[in-house]
Amino acid sequence: MFRSIGIQYERYVYSSLLLGKDSPGKVYFCLIGMKNEFFQTKIEFLKGVGPQRAEILKKELGIFTYEDLIYHFPYRYVDRTKFYKCREASAEMPFIQVRGQLKSLITKGEKHKKYLVGRFADETGAIELKWFKGLRFLSTSLKLNTEYILFGKPNEFNGAINIIHPELELVSEQNTTLATSLQPLYNTSEKMKGRGLDSRSLNRLLKALLIQLPASLSETLPKEIIRENKLMGLREALTQIHFPESIESQLKATFRIKFEELFYIQLKLLFLKLIRTDKYKGILFDHIGENFNTFYNNHLPFQLTNAQKRVIREIREDCGSGKQMNRLLQGDVGSGKTLVAFMCMLMAADNGFQSCIMAPTEILANQHAETISKLVEGLGLKVALLTGSVKGSKRKVILEDLANQQITILVGTHALIEDEVQFKNLGFVVIDEQHRFGVEQRAKIWKKNKQVPHVLVMTATPIPRTLAMTLYGDLDYSVIDEMPPGRKPVQTVHRNDTNRLQVWGFIKEQIKQGRQIYIVYPLIEESEKMDLKNLEAGYEAVCRDFPAPEFRVSIVHGRMKAKDKDMEMQRFLRKETQIMIATTVIEVGVNVPNASVMIIENAERFGLSQLHQLRGRVGRGADQSYCILMTGAKIGNEARQRIRTMCDTNDGFVIAEADLQLRGPGDTEGTRQSGMLDLKLANITKDQQIVLLSRDSALALLKIDPTLDNPEHASVRLKLNHILHKTGNWSRIS
Ligand code: ADP
Ligand code: MG
Repeated sequence: MFRSIGIQYERYVYSSLLLGKDSPGKVYFCLIGMKNEFFQTKIEFLKGVGPQRAEILKKELGIFTYEDLIYHFPYRYVDRTKFYKCREASAEMPFIQVRGQLKSLITKGEKHKKYLVGRFADETGAIELKWFKGLRFLSTSLKLNTEYILFGKPNEFNGAINIIHPELELVSEQNTTLATSLQPLYNTSEKMKGRGLDSRSLNRLLKALLIQLPASLSETLPKEIIRENKLMGLREALTQIHFPESIESQLKATFRIKFEELFYIQLKLLFLKLIRTDKYKGILFDHIGENFNTFYNNHLPFQLTNAQKRVIREIREDCGSGKQMNRLLQGDVGSGKTLVAFMCMLMAADNGFQSCIMAPTEILANQHAETISKLVEGLGLKVALLTGSVKGSKRKVILEDLANQQITILVGTHALIEDEVQFKNLGFVVIDEQHRFGVEQRAKIWKKNKQVPHVLVMTATPIPRTLAMTLYGDLDYSVIDEMPPGRKPVQTVHRNDTNRLQVWGFIKEQIKQGRQIYIVYPLIEESEKMDLKNLEAGYEAVCRDFPAPEFRVSIVHGRMKAKDKDMEMQRFLRKETQIMIATTVIEVGVNVPNASVMIIENAERFGLSQLHQLRGRVGRGADQSYCILMTGAKIGNEARQRIRTMCDTNDGFVIAEADLQLRGPGDTEGTRQSGMLDLKLANITKDQQIVLLSRDSALALLKIDPTLDNPEHASVRLKLNHILHKTGNWSRIS
């Protein structure tokens, strides 16, 4: 079926063809299916909006249509059934609702900076109220010694509690204005508030809109999925999420909408995967031959871990299945992913195919080239390294040898994907440290062979399961969940500048024992100049405290030429220098087994996965290794938690979870570029259960209706088409 549509893997052709035979590539606005005219109505036509407010809504919230407004969900609800006493008010409360009386109202301040101060009291105490705007209206309309309901956010000011711009509602009028006891709160901006578009008035607009919601609104989830997951219907959910009748119905509505969001992400990924496996016949690796066997029997430097064996088996099965493999390999730093990749390349060679491995930095590519050259010794396979700095005749020779298959394994950086790099017979592609590569670059790799090669994507550090599922749900998944034996966990401690002497003493001791040391400085783009200064100052200080000829110090940073960087790395590797001062250029992959101490300066400025990566540079040899996280004496709460996590565990999977909890998925390494997590309501961290449920549902649906051609699923297909078109399904290629 898919083949009959004749999908081309070209950006627009692909996405418009996916829209189906009848559509001439027109964008569907079909979030809600049939009644889309209603949802696409311009927001200015809503009663109470008009051209001026419409402008603000567009500018401030990106609300252009009825649909945009309906999908502008409350960020929280306030239980207006709950009342407190004045005495209970504290600045920690997000909101408070109190019944009491206004005891006084006084205008204070200078001419142009006048403000109004009120004293609101009940039998337990008093709260100060302050207004800076609308003073004239307030001072004439507010009544003293009359029962009010006060609502607002308590703050602490000079040791007393006050509320700025509270809501006051006469008890006698209560419930006539409130639609629900659970009051939804909406994001608004200062500008909006200035034009009377606060949370409450948005709520009012929504009420006017939802009353008009067409009764025939078509459902966007399949009936069976609604039934099995006991989901609220779409129409009810959209109403209840803005005007919940109870906490239960609000929760059910929220669940339904989150489910739908996550469901369509999964459906999209799985649908694309189906198309891919149907469209691309895989290169067949039907046997294991001499290279693999000779290596396995005679040259394997150590026993493979069970996890490594399992993953090799999984890859072998894939490549022998006739399907094109797209696999994500997760494994902690140092778990031995490179060896697995290498053995798969041997498998490709045994079947007459070339392979390549692409690394994000030159340093790492160099290292891979060295490692792999050593591993192939005795096999008679030719390995070459191609990076941006390989030029002239050397480059020419490599390109020729690639084209005539003299070279079996090519190691390199982005340079590999340039058009001039032509393989004779590329069968297996490894992408190391996946997140550093852009989507388009990965796509190019696909075109390096007539028949699409198998692709193995390896992550730098683990990603939590549900996040991986959301980001890479269209890939098959393997995990190395076991470290090579005999590794001593790196001991991690937190120190600050007052411990500097002691830390230096420790380093000297380690160097005396023949060990080597990394000292890493942050280098973050916004303040690059200052950071470089820090790094250089650090370098000078270290050189002063560790003078030659007893000590030798190397320095490597991003501003250096590749050649110089490489030279310094080589010096360190050859043990000509004992201390390596560096920025995060050494973060990824560098392997110097003799290095046993990693000192991270300004550790508070690094993210968790970066810290974990850096720490992974030590502990690669037999010796006990150490990681010292240096910070200033005062650090923020979140930074403290990151550092504590680092000191507590060496497990990359645990750290990945903690990172997700601390920062949220939007910031987790690798997700920023993807734009995949543009979720309105669902949260990958908090809604892991829904991620799993929705994936199961999407799988089940595609099992019974893989092409979504069943008329019952027409609205699902329509919505999926829309999503594919909008996001250019393109985004997930490898
Ligand atoms: P990563 O998964 O971080 O890329 P590497 O592939 O660089 O890890 O492996 C880290 C180190 O562990 C390398 O020095 C490698 O030679 C070694 N190694 C890999 N597999 C094993 C094994 N099964 N037993 C012992 N050491 C191993
Ligand atoms: Mg690696």
